[in-house]
Order: sequence, then C-alpha cells, then structure tokens
Amino acid sequence: MKLREALKLDSSGIAKLKDELRAKVDNSLLNAFISLDEAGDGVPIAIKDNIQVKGWSVTAGSKILQGYISPYNATVIDKLKGAGLCAFGRTNMDEFAMGSTTESSYYGKTLNPHDNSCVPGGSSGGSAAAVASGEAIAALGSDTGGSIRQPAAYCGIVGMKPTYGRVSRYGLGAYASSLDQIGPMTQDVEDAALLYDIISGYDQNDSTSADVEYESVVDKLDGNRVLNIGITPSHLENAAPQIQKAYKKAVKALKDAGHNIVECTLLDPKYDISAYYITATAEATTNLARYDGVRYGRRAESDTLEQLYINSRSEGFGDEVKRRILLGNFVLSSGYYDAYYIKAQKVRRVIKDEYAKLFEKVDLILSPVAPTTAPKFGALSDPLQMYLSDIYTIGVNLAGLPAISLPVNKDEDTLPIGLQLIAAPYDEQTLFDGALSLERALETL
Ligand code: GLN
Repeated sequence: MKLREALKLDSSGIAKLKDELRAKVDNSLLNAFISLDEAGDGVPIAIKDNIQVKGWSVTAGSKILQGYISPYNATVIDKLKGAGLCAFGRTNMDEFAMGSTTESSYYGKTLNPHDNSCVPGGSSGGSAAAVASGEAIAALGSDTGGSIRQPAAYCGIVGMKPTYGRVSRYGLGAYASSLDQIGPMTQDVEDAALLYDIISGYDQNDSTSADVEYESVVDKLDGNRVLNIGITPSHLENAAPQIQKAYKKAVKALKDAGHNIVECTLLDPKYDISAYYITATAEATTNLARYDGVRYGRRAESDTLEQLYINSRSEGFGDEVKRRILLGNFVLSSGYYDAYYIKAQKVRRVIKDEYAKLFEKVDLILSPVAPTTAPKFGALSDPLQMYLSDIYTIGVNLAGLPAISLPVNKDEDTLPIGLQLIAAPYDEQTLFDGALSLERALETL
C-alpha cells in the first residue's frame, strides 16, 4: 500500500494495516528492524534508529547506547504526529550512520530483499530493506554522505535527501552536523514528495534550520514541466557497465519526455572523497565525545573515573566508529589542522561553487548513485574500498544540495539500479517535478 492510500484509511483500516506489517516483520529474515516499537496512533512510518522517539530505546546501531531511553521526540516525529502518522519500528543502520552497508550495526546485518547474499546499502539499510520488502509503507532515513540515496538505489526504492537546513535536525543523533539531513524513503516519487512536505520547514530548535518560506511541493507537483537536465559523461568512467547502461537509458527516457539534455563537466569526484572523509570524521569526533558512559546508555565496569571513560568507549564503540574517531582527532590536531581540516573546507567551497555555476545553466543534474549494484556481504571490508564507493553521493552533501534517488531498471534481470537527480539549494519543487517525469518516462520506455 502506498503512503498516499494509507493516509485515506480510517482508524480500523490503520489498525489492520499495522497488524499486517507486524505479521510481515515477525516472519521476516531480513533484520530490517532492530525492534518493532510503536508510538501512538496514525499511519505507520518506520524510523531509522538515530531519530529520537520519546520513550523508545534509541541506539543508533551502537552497543554504547544500550539501555538509553529517549526523553523527547525529534521535530520530525512531532511533525509526523501532527499529520496523522506515527513512528512504527526502529530500523537497523550502520553504527552512528558510519558506513555504506549496514554491516557495522551492533544488532547484526540486514539482508537485501532482492538477494539475501547482498548488502542493502547503508547506513539507512534497515529503512530501505523494510520499504522494499513491504515491511513498511514508508520510512525515514538520514543522509550525511549518501545514506538515504544509496540504500534506496541498492534496494530499488525512492530515497530523497533535502537541502541542508530544510528538515530540522533536532533529535537526530549527530554524525557530521554540517552534512546530516533527515529525508523520506518511499515506494515512489509522489509518496516521497508527500512525506517530504510533512517533515520539512523551519524549526527554532535547530540553529541550522533554514528560515525560509515553506511551500508545499505536493500541491504543485508537475511531471510535465520541460527542464534543462545536465549530464556529466566524464563521471561515468567510475561506474560499472550496467550502471552506465542504466544511465544511458534514463537519458533517453528524459529526452523522449521532451527535456533538454545539456552536457556538463564537474570537478573530478575523487576530491569529494577526501574533503568528505576529513570533514565528516572531524565533526564525528566532536559529536561522539558525549558518549562517555556517564550521561547516556551503557556504562562499563571500572574503579576510577578515567577508567570508566576508557572502558565504556572501548567496549561500546565498534571498529569503524573508533577508526573515524582516531582519524577525526588526527585531522583536527594542532600541526595537522591547517594541512587537512582547513584544506578540506577550502575544497568544499570549490565543490559548492562548481555546482552553483552549473545550476546557472541547468535545472537538474543526472548522476549515478553508486558505482555498482549492491555488493555481496564482506566485499567492502577494506574501509578505503567502502569510502570510495561513496563517490557519487557525497558531493551533494558537501554542497548542501537536495537530491533524489530513483530506480531505473525495475524489469531487468539484475539487482536494482538507482540514479539520482540533483537540484539547486531549496529547489525541491523542480527536483520532485523532474523525478516524477523521469519515473513516468521510464515506465513507458
Ligand atoms: N557512507 C558514508 C559514510 O560512511 C555516508 C554515511 C551517511 O550518509 N550517514 O560516512
């Protein structure tokens, strides 16, 4: 059932829907959910386990938050409630949203519903697997460097990352605060627009929330607008042949739908990887300092206060999180700060300016989401290989842009392939209009 259909149900219809979802989750082997907590009445939305829901045990996929009960709702949860929806199930994720496969969760791996030997992507892998398998009608995820769009692509659903500042981060467990955004993960573009509308808007509880007039995108959703769509052929070199084929298919579909295709160049995305992994780990180091065994969650046995900190963090964090804390401390340390952190901020500015220049010429940019389809479990166990697989998604976060990933190869005999459209800041209307047009054009191809 689509979200827009569920929103028309009466209370007994909603109760029946919840029963069906509960039964599906109970019988499932995917491990998309860490637990099936429920919070109130309303149309059920699955929630990534780094979003605060009052009374829930929110863990961010980490052992260190075991036993922590959230005392408040994230703003997005209050907004869901206000629109007749409710939080239903905590979905699995890479620990503290650090990862691209959901393998780093303390709560075990999540399986890709299309092929159980493959990862669902990450870090919002639980949300993506839940929507793709029908265990949720829609979900919320968070995207710091691709964590909504990439699992959406691997699982064959729609995932949308809003402009930085569009959706309140109040109550989102912080990974890298200048990059994080919450966004919708749904079965199609129209549902994504609907859920995006519900969670967006200025929030005085988030100092980085954009204080701009919010207009509904659903009310004006228009799949018939003719747009200038930028393509970046040189970027395709990093993608596997079947991704390149899907890209060409989408370009044809867009052309056939009457859009103008404009060839563009962007900076080599290898710079995105360096700038992102320096910025994100630096911010993560600061954000994760609060997990000390005193204030939240799990406290390790110890005789002294110092040992309490050391033991709680050593036992509570997994390897990937520790690796990033070390890396982040390194790039922020005096002596290396200018060489790494400051330099990364300068590169970030160049990337942002490059996109701004492009958006003077085009309305949207079409890009792959990931260089391959969903990898097998263990295939990205080398951290550097995993970081490199983020090549197509992280530039969008560095530049603060909105982007949407949608499936392009539904009927073909391969794992799902997602492509993304990227728009100028705050131009979510054009983003959804273009995505709707692409979705329809692909159906008739
Ligand atoms: N894979 C990227 C990382 O590990 C992005 C994760 C995310 O968007 N939360 O940092």
